[in-house]
Amino acid sequence: MNLKSWIKDRTGSPQATLPQPIGGRGRAAATFAAGITFENVERRYGDHQALAGFTLDIAPSEVVCLLGPSGCGKTTLLRIASGIEKPSAGRVLINGAEVAGPARFVPPEQRSVGLMFQDFALFPHLTILDNVAFGLKSLPKADAAREALALLSRVGLAHLAANYPHTLSGGQQQRVALARAIVPRPSVMLMDEPFSGLDVQLRDAMQEETLSLLRETRATSLIVTHHPEEAMRLGDRIAIMSHGRLIQLGTAEDLYHHPAELFVARLFSEINEVRLRVKDQRIDTPFGPIAAPGLRDGDTAILCLRERAMMVWPDGAEPPPARTHTGKVLPGRVLHVRFLGDVGLVEVAVQGFDEPLKVRTPEPDGLKRGDNVAVEIDPARALVFPG
Ligand code: ATP
Repeated sequence: MNLKSWIKDRTGSPQATLPQPIGGRGRAAATFAAGITFENVERRYGDHQALAGFTLDIAPSEVVCLLGPSGCGKTTLLRIASGIEKPSAGRVLINGAEVAGPARFVPPEQRSVGLMFQDFALFPHLTILDNVAFGLKSLPKADAAREALALLSRVGLAHLAANYPHTLSGGQQQRVALARAIVPRPSVMLMDEPFSGLDVQLRDAMQEETLSLLRETRATSLIVTHHPEEAMRLGDRIAIMSHGRLIQLGTAEDLYHHPAELFVARLFSEINEVRLRVKDQRIDTPFGPIAAPGLRDGDTAILCLRERAMMVWPDGAEPPPARTHTGKVLPGRVLHVRFLGDVGLVEVAVQGFDEPLKVRTPEPDGLKRGDNVAVEIDPARALVFPG
Protein backbone atom coordinates (compact mmCIF):
# COMPACT_ATOMS: atom_id res chain seq x y z
CA MET A 1 0.00 0.00 0.00
CA ASN A 2 1.37 3.45 -0.78
CA LEU A 3 1.56 6.35 1.65
CA LYS A 4 -1.44 8.19 0.31
CA SER A 5 -3.82 5.26 0.26
CA TRP A 6 -2.77 4.35 3.77
CA ILE A 7 -3.60 7.82 5.04
CA LYS A 8 -6.80 7.90 3.00
CA ASP A 9 -7.92 4.66 4.65
CA ARG A 10 -7.59 6.25 8.05
CA THR A 11 -8.72 9.78 7.43
CA GLY A 12 -10.90 9.60 4.33
CA SER A 13 -8.54 12.00 2.59
CA PRO A 14 -5.07 11.75 1.05
CA GLN A 15 -3.56 14.24 3.47
CA ALA A 16 0.14 14.50 3.93
CA THR A 17 0.56 14.95 7.67
CA LEU A 18 0.10 12.26 10.24
CA PRO A 19 -2.10 14.17 12.63
CA GLN A 20 -1.12 12.97 16.08
CA PRO A 21 2.43 13.32 17.29
CA ILE A 22 3.72 11.30 20.25
CA GLY A 23 1.57 11.88 23.30
CA GLY A 24 -1.66 11.80 21.32
CA ARG A 25 -1.96 15.59 21.08
CA GLY A 26 -2.70 17.38 17.86
CA ARG A 27 0.64 19.09 17.94
CA ALA A 28 3.66 19.28 20.17
CA ALA A 29 4.02 22.58 22.01
CA ALA A 30 7.24 23.07 20.11
CA THR A 31 9.36 20.81 17.98
CA PHE A 32 11.90 19.08 20.11
CA ALA A 33 14.71 17.69 18.06
CA ALA A 34 14.72 13.91 17.80
CA GLY A 35 17.39 11.71 16.30
CA ILE A 36 16.32 8.84 14.06
CA THR A 37 18.29 5.64 13.67
CA PHE A 38 17.98 2.79 11.19
CA GLU A 39 19.71 -0.37 12.35
CA ASN A 40 20.23 -3.06 9.72
CA VAL A 41 16.75 -2.47 8.33
CA GLU A 42 15.55 -5.04 5.81
CA ARG A 43 12.38 -5.15 3.76
CA ARG A 44 11.56 -8.09 1.54
CA TYR A 45 8.71 -8.34 -0.96
CA GLY A 46 8.62 -12.04 -1.82
CA ASP A 47 12.06 -12.80 -3.27
CA HIS A 48 12.88 -9.15 -3.79
CA GLN A 49 14.88 -7.34 -1.15
CA ALA A 50 13.96 -3.65 -1.29
CA LEU A 51 16.10 -2.88 1.77
CA ALA A 52 19.08 -5.11 2.41
CA GLY A 53 20.47 -4.11 5.81
CA PHE A 54 20.21 -0.34 5.82
CA THR A 55 21.97 1.44 8.68
CA LEU A 56 21.95 5.21 9.26
CA ASP A 57 22.02 7.51 12.26
CA ILE A 58 20.51 10.99 11.80
CA ALA A 59 21.28 13.50 14.54
CA PRO A 60 18.59 15.70 16.11
CA SER A 61 17.79 18.69 13.83
CA GLU A 62 19.99 17.33 11.06
CA VAL A 63 18.85 17.46 7.43
CA VAL A 64 19.89 14.34 5.51
CA CYS A 65 19.19 13.91 1.82
CA LEU A 66 18.71 10.42 0.48
CA LEU A 67 20.00 10.07 -3.05
CA GLY A 68 19.99 7.00 -5.24
CA PRO A 69 18.73 5.49 -8.47
CA SER A 70 15.10 4.61 -9.07
CA GLY A 71 14.06 1.44 -7.25
CA CYS A 72 16.94 1.47 -4.74
CA GLY A 73 14.52 1.58 -1.77
CA LYS A 74 14.24 5.27 -0.85
CA THR A 75 10.44 5.42 -0.55
CA THR A 76 10.40 2.07 1.24
CA LEU A 77 12.75 3.53 3.83
CA LEU A 78 10.48 6.57 4.35
CA ARG A 79 7.46 4.30 4.70
CA ILE A 80 9.25 2.28 7.34
CA ALA A 81 10.40 5.43 9.17
CA SER A 82 6.84 6.74 9.25
CA GLY A 83 5.38 3.43 10.44
CA ILE A 84 3.22 2.84 7.38
CA GLU A 85 5.23 -0.26 6.71
CA LYS A 86 7.03 -2.70 9.00
CA PRO A 87 10.61 -3.81 8.42
CA SER A 88 11.18 -7.54 7.74
CA ALA A 89 14.23 -7.30 10.05
CA GLY A 90 16.25 -4.65 11.86
CA ARG A 91 15.13 -1.74 14.00
CA VAL A 92 14.12 1.92 13.75
CA LEU A 93 14.63 4.17 16.76
CA ILE A 94 13.39 7.72 17.32
CA ASN A 95 15.31 9.51 20.04
CA GLY A 96 16.78 6.20 21.13
CA ALA A 97 13.38 4.54 21.62
CA GLU A 98 12.54 1.60 19.37
CA VAL A 99 9.55 2.39 17.16
CA ALA A 100 9.90 -0.62 14.85
CA GLY A 101 11.71 -3.86 15.54
CA PRO A 102 11.27 -7.41 16.72
CA ALA A 103 10.06 -6.31 20.15
CA ARG A 104 7.97 -3.25 19.43
CA PHE A 105 5.93 -1.43 16.82
CA VAL A 106 4.76 2.13 17.44
CA PRO A 107 1.93 3.11 15.10
CA PRO A 108 2.50 6.11 12.80
CA GLU A 109 0.18 8.45 14.66
CA GLN A 110 2.33 8.12 17.77
CA ARG A 111 5.69 8.77 16.13
CA SER A 112 5.62 12.57 15.74
CA VAL A 113 6.45 12.26 12.09
CA GLY A 114 5.42 14.64 9.30
CA LEU A 115 5.22 13.57 5.67
CA MET A 116 5.29 15.48 2.44
CA PHE A 117 4.89 14.10 -1.06
CA GLN A 118 5.97 15.28 -4.47
CA ASP A 119 2.39 15.94 -5.63
CA PHE A 120 1.45 17.93 -2.46
CA ALA A 121 -1.87 16.02 -2.10
CA LEU A 122 -3.94 18.99 -0.88
CA PHE A 123 -7.65 18.46 -0.20
CA PRO A 124 -9.46 20.09 -3.11
CA HIS A 125 -12.67 20.64 -1.12
CA LEU A 126 -11.00 22.47 1.80
CA THR A 127 -9.78 26.06 1.88
CA ILE A 128 -6.08 26.69 2.23
CA LEU A 129 -6.56 27.53 5.90
CA ASP A 130 -8.54 24.33 6.53
CA ASN A 131 -5.94 22.30 4.64
CA VAL A 132 -3.24 23.55 6.98
CA ALA A 133 -5.40 23.30 10.11
CA PHE A 134 -6.30 19.70 9.26
CA GLY A 135 -3.31 18.32 11.15
CA LEU A 136 -4.38 20.16 14.32
CA LYS A 137 -7.75 18.46 14.75
CA SER A 138 -7.40 17.84 18.45
CA LEU A 139 -6.91 21.55 19.18
CA PRO A 140 -9.94 23.80 19.70
CA LYS A 141 -10.98 25.08 16.28
CA ALA A 142 -10.01 28.69 16.93
CA ASP A 143 -6.55 27.70 18.18
CA ALA A 144 -6.02 25.45 15.16
CA ALA A 145 -7.04 28.26 12.82
CA ARG A 146 -4.72 30.69 14.59
CA GLU A 147 -1.77 28.28 14.34
CA ALA A 148 -2.53 27.52 10.71
CA LEU A 149 -2.77 31.20 9.85
CA ALA A 150 0.52 31.94 11.60
CA LEU A 151 2.25 29.32 9.49
CA LEU A 152 0.54 30.49 6.30
CA SER A 153 1.77 33.94 7.13
CA ARG A 154 5.28 32.53 7.63
CA VAL A 155 5.23 31.09 4.11
CA GLY A 156 3.75 34.30 2.70
CA LEU A 157 0.26 32.98 1.90
CA ALA A 158 -1.97 34.39 4.66
CA HIS A 159 -3.80 36.52 2.07
CA LEU A 160 -4.89 33.33 0.25
CA ALA A 161 -6.20 31.56 3.37
CA ALA A 162 -9.82 31.54 2.15
CA ASN A 163 -8.97 30.30 -1.36
CA TYR A 164 -9.19 26.74 -2.63
CA PRO A 165 -6.13 24.77 -3.81
CA HIS A 166 -7.03 24.79 -7.53
CA THR A 167 -6.70 28.60 -7.59
CA LEU A 168 -3.05 28.44 -6.47
CA SER A 169 0.10 28.10 -8.56
CA GLY A 170 2.36 25.05 -8.18
CA GLY A 171 4.77 26.97 -5.95
CA GLN A 172 1.96 28.24 -3.74
CA GLN A 173 0.53 24.74 -3.41
CA GLN A 174 3.96 23.46 -2.43
CA ARG A 175 4.12 26.09 0.32
CA VAL A 176 0.68 25.08 1.60
CA ALA A 177 1.73 21.42 1.67
CA LEU A 178 4.86 22.40 3.56
CA ALA A 179 2.88 24.47 6.07
CA ARG A 180 0.43 21.61 6.56
CA ALA A 181 3.20 19.07 7.13
CA ILE A 182 5.03 21.27 9.61
CA VAL A 183 2.16 22.84 11.58
CA PRO A 184 1.84 19.89 14.03
CA ARG A 185 5.54 20.49 14.80
CA PRO A 186 6.67 16.95 14.03
CA SER A 187 10.03 15.94 15.46
CA VAL A 188 10.91 14.19 12.21
CA MET A 189 10.00 15.37 8.70
CA LEU A 190 10.05 12.85 5.88
CA MET A 191 9.89 14.36 2.40
CA ASP A 192 9.57 12.29 -0.77
CA GLU A 193 10.86 14.30 -3.73
CA PRO A 194 9.08 17.44 -2.50
CA PHE A 195 10.31 19.67 -5.34
CA SER A 196 10.07 17.39 -8.35
CA GLY A 197 6.74 18.86 -9.50
CA LEU A 198 8.16 22.38 -9.73
CA ASP A 199 9.96 24.06 -12.58
CA VAL A 200 13.66 24.78 -12.16
CA GLN A 201 13.41 28.43 -11.09
CA LEU A 202 10.64 27.82 -8.61
CA ARG A 203 12.47 24.81 -7.28
CA ASP A 204 15.46 26.93 -6.26
CA ALA A 205 13.29 29.39 -4.34
CA MET A 206 11.26 26.64 -2.65
CA GLN A 207 14.37 24.74 -1.62
CA GLU A 208 15.64 27.81 0.21
CA GLU A 209 12.29 28.47 1.83
CA THR A 210 11.81 24.86 2.91
CA LEU A 211 15.27 24.69 4.37
CA SER A 212 14.79 27.84 6.41
CA LEU A 213 11.47 26.56 7.76
CA LEU A 214 13.03 23.21 8.69
CA ARG A 215 15.85 25.07 10.46
CA GLU A 216 13.41 27.29 12.36
CA THR A 217 11.34 24.37 13.59
CA ARG A 218 14.46 22.26 14.20
CA ALA A 219 12.74 19.23 12.67
CA THR A 220 15.08 16.34 11.93
CA SER A 221 14.62 15.77 8.21
CA LEU A 222 15.08 13.00 5.70
CA ILE A 223 14.55 14.23 2.15
CA VAL A 224 14.44 11.90 -0.84
CA THR A 225 15.70 13.36 -4.08
CA HIS A 226 16.93 12.25 -7.50
CA HIS A 227 19.02 15.37 -7.96
CA PRO A 228 22.60 15.49 -6.65
CA GLU A 229 22.66 19.29 -6.73
CA GLU A 230 19.48 19.46 -4.65
CA ALA A 231 21.02 17.04 -2.15
CA MET A 232 24.18 19.17 -1.96
CA ARG A 233 22.15 22.29 -1.42
CA LEU A 234 19.77 20.96 1.23
CA GLY A 235 21.54 18.25 3.15
CA ASP A 236 23.85 18.68 6.12
CA ARG A 237 24.85 15.22 4.98
CA ILE A 238 23.94 13.11 1.99
CA ALA A 239 23.19 9.40 2.19
CA ILE A 240 23.87 7.56 -1.06
CA MET A 241 21.81 4.45 -1.52
CA SER A 242 22.01 1.61 -4.00
CA HIS A 243 20.25 -1.77 -4.07
CA GLY A 244 18.71 -1.27 -0.63
CA ARG A 245 21.94 -0.39 1.13
CA LEU A 246 23.75 2.72 2.29
CA ILE A 247 26.79 3.10 0.02
CA GLN A 248 28.26 6.30 1.45
CA LEU A 249 27.33 8.99 3.94
CA GLY A 250 28.99 12.36 4.15
CA THR A 251 28.92 16.06 3.48
CA ALA A 252 28.71 17.30 -0.08
CA GLU A 253 32.46 18.01 0.02
CA ASP A 254 33.26 14.49 1.30
CA LEU A 255 31.26 12.86 -1.43
CA TYR A 256 32.56 15.11 -4.18
CA HIS A 257 36.24 14.82 -3.25
CA HIS A 258 36.32 11.28 -1.88
CA PRO A 259 33.62 9.20 -3.58
CA ALA A 260 33.72 5.63 -2.28
CA GLU A 261 32.65 4.14 -5.62
CA LEU A 262 32.60 4.99 -9.28
CA PHE A 263 28.81 5.20 -9.04
CA VAL A 264 29.11 8.01 -6.44
CA ALA A 265 31.74 9.87 -8.50
CA ARG A 266 29.42 9.77 -11.51
CA LEU A 267 26.61 11.34 -9.47
CA PHE A 268 28.58 14.43 -8.49
CA SER A 269 30.54 15.34 -11.59
CA GLU A 270 30.84 14.72 -15.29
CA ILE A 271 33.83 12.47 -15.81
CA ASN A 272 35.90 10.86 -18.55
CA GLU A 273 36.43 7.18 -17.76
CA VAL A 274 39.51 5.41 -19.14
CA ARG A 275 40.30 1.73 -18.49
CA LEU A 276 43.97 0.99 -17.75
CA ARG A 277 46.01 -1.90 -16.33
CA VAL A 278 47.55 -1.62 -12.83
CA LYS A 279 51.27 -2.12 -12.30
CA ASP A 280 53.13 -1.52 -9.02
CA GLN A 281 50.03 0.01 -7.40
CA ARG A 282 49.77 2.67 -10.05
CA ILE A 283 48.54 3.22 -13.56
CA ASP A 284 50.66 4.70 -16.31
CA THR A 285 48.49 7.26 -18.03
CA PRO A 286 49.50 9.41 -21.00
CA PHE A 287 49.50 12.32 -18.50
CA GLY A 288 51.97 10.44 -16.26
CA PRO A 289 51.71 7.84 -13.47
CA ILE A 290 48.81 8.01 -11.02
CA ALA A 291 48.58 6.01 -7.78
CA ALA A 292 46.09 3.13 -7.65
CA PRO A 293 46.27 2.17 -3.97
CA GLY A 294 44.73 -1.14 -3.02
CA LEU A 295 44.69 -2.46 -6.60
CA ARG A 296 46.85 -5.44 -7.58
CA ASP A 297 49.17 -5.88 -10.53
CA GLY A 298 47.20 -6.87 -13.60
CA ASP A 299 43.88 -5.52 -12.30
CA THR A 300 41.89 -3.24 -14.54
CA ALA A 301 41.48 0.25 -13.10
CA ILE A 302 39.18 3.01 -14.21
CA LEU A 303 40.84 6.39 -14.37
CA CYS A 304 38.30 9.17 -13.85
CA LEU A 305 39.18 12.61 -15.15
CA ARG A 306 36.65 15.24 -14.18
CA GLU A 307 35.68 17.30 -17.18
CA ARG A 308 36.03 20.46 -15.10
CA ALA A 309 39.46 19.51 -13.75
CA MET A 310 41.13 19.61 -17.19
CA MET A 311 42.63 22.51 -19.08
CA VAL A 312 42.65 23.10 -22.80
CA TRP A 313 44.16 26.01 -24.72
CA PRO A 314 45.19 26.71 -28.34
CA ASP A 315 48.52 25.25 -29.28
CA GLY A 316 51.23 27.94 -29.03
CA ALA A 317 48.96 30.38 -27.14
CA GLU A 318 49.43 31.62 -23.61
CA PRO A 319 48.02 28.94 -21.19
CA PRO A 320 45.07 29.98 -18.97
CA PRO A 321 46.16 31.60 -15.67
CA ALA A 322 44.41 28.86 -13.65
CA ARG A 323 46.70 26.24 -15.15
CA THR A 324 47.99 23.78 -12.54
CA HIS A 325 51.52 23.21 -13.91
CA THR A 326 51.52 19.90 -12.07
CA GLY A 327 50.60 17.59 -14.93
CA LYS A 328 52.18 16.68 -18.23
CA VAL A 329 50.87 18.71 -21.16
CA LEU A 330 49.70 16.64 -24.13
CA PRO A 331 48.87 17.71 -27.68
CA GLY A 332 45.32 17.25 -28.96
CA ARG A 333 42.91 18.20 -31.68
CA VAL A 334 39.45 19.68 -31.14
CA LEU A 335 36.59 17.50 -32.43
CA HIS A 336 33.59 19.50 -31.20
CA VAL A 337 32.85 22.64 -29.21
CA ARG A 338 29.44 23.14 -27.58
CA PHE A 339 28.26 26.29 -25.86
CA LEU A 340 26.61 25.39 -22.54
CA GLY A 341 26.20 28.86 -21.05
CA ASP A 342 28.63 29.21 -18.17
CA VAL A 343 31.06 26.74 -19.71
CA GLY A 344 32.02 25.35 -23.08
CA LEU A 345 32.17 21.61 -23.62
CA VAL A 346 35.17 20.80 -25.76
CA GLU A 347 35.71 17.29 -27.11
CA VAL A 348 39.36 16.65 -27.85
CA ALA A 349 41.31 13.75 -29.37
CA VAL A 350 44.29 13.64 -27.02
CA GLN A 351 47.57 11.94 -27.87
CA GLY A 352 47.84 8.58 -26.09
CA PHE A 353 44.09 8.11 -25.52
CA ASP A 354 41.98 5.80 -27.71
CA GLU A 355 38.78 7.73 -27.06
CA PRO A 356 38.24 11.51 -27.15
CA LEU A 357 38.18 13.34 -23.79
CA LYS A 358 35.62 15.94 -22.80
CA VAL A 359 36.74 19.16 -21.15
CA ARG A 360 34.42 21.72 -19.56
CA THR A 361 36.12 25.05 -19.66
CA PRO A 362 34.94 28.56 -18.82
CA GLU A 363 37.28 29.82 -21.56
CA PRO A 364 36.38 28.08 -24.82
CA ASP A 365 36.66 31.38 -26.69
CA GLY A 366 37.99 30.98 -30.15
CA LEU A 367 38.34 27.20 -30.01
CA LYS A 368 36.84 25.43 -33.00
CA ARG A 369 36.76 22.05 -34.63
CA GLY A 370 40.14 21.02 -36.07
CA ASP A 371 42.24 23.33 -33.86
CA ASN A 372 45.45 21.97 -32.40
CA VAL A 373 45.44 22.40 -28.63
CA ALA A 374 47.40 21.70 -25.47
CA VAL A 375 45.66 19.64 -22.75
CA GLU A 376 46.53 19.25 -19.10
CA ILE A 377 44.94 17.56 -16.11
CA ASP A 378 45.25 18.19 -12.39
CA PRO A 379 46.54 14.77 -11.25
CA ALA A 380 45.51 15.52 -7.65
CA ARG A 381 41.87 15.60 -8.78
CA ALA A 382 42.03 12.38 -10.80
CA LEU A 383 40.22 9.39 -9.26
CA VAL A 384 41.01 5.72 -9.68
CA PHE A 385 38.53 2.89 -9.08
CA PRO A 386 38.65 -0.87 -9.62
CA GLY A 387 37.47 -1.77 -13.11
P1 ATP B 1 11.87 5.74 -7.07
O1 ATP B 1 13.06 6.65 -6.97
O2 ATP B 1 11.61 5.26 -8.47
O3 ATP B 1 10.66 6.27 -6.37
P2 ATP B 1 12.67 4.15 -4.77
O4 ATP B 1 14.14 4.20 -4.56
O5 ATP B 1 11.83 5.02 -3.92
O6 ATP B 1 12.32 4.38 -6.31
P3 ATP B 1 11.05 2.00 -3.72
O7 ATP B 1 9.73 2.57 -4.12
O8 ATP B 1 11.42 2.06 -2.29
O9 ATP B 1 12.23 2.61 -4.59
O10 ATP B 1 11.08 0.49 -4.20
C1 ATP B 1 12.22 -0.35 -3.96
C2 ATP B 1 11.98 -1.68 -4.63
O11 ATP B 1 10.96 -2.39 -3.94
C3 ATP B 1 11.53 -1.57 -6.08
O12 ATP B 1 12.14 -2.61 -6.81
C4 ATP B 1 10.04 -1.77 -5.99
O13 ATP B 1 9.55 -2.34 -7.17
C5 ATP B 1 9.91 -2.73 -4.81
N1 ATP B 1 8.64 -2.53 -4.08
C6 ATP B 1 8.26 -1.42 -3.42
N2 ATP B 1 7.06 -1.59 -2.84
C7 ATP B 1 6.64 -2.84 -3.18
C8 ATP B 1 5.48 -3.62 -2.89
N3 ATP B 1 4.50 -3.14 -2.14
N4 ATP B 1 5.43 -4.87 -3.40
C9 ATP B 1 6.44 -5.38 -4.14
N5 ATP B 1 7.56 -4.69 -4.44
C10 ATP B 1 7.68 -3.43 -3.98
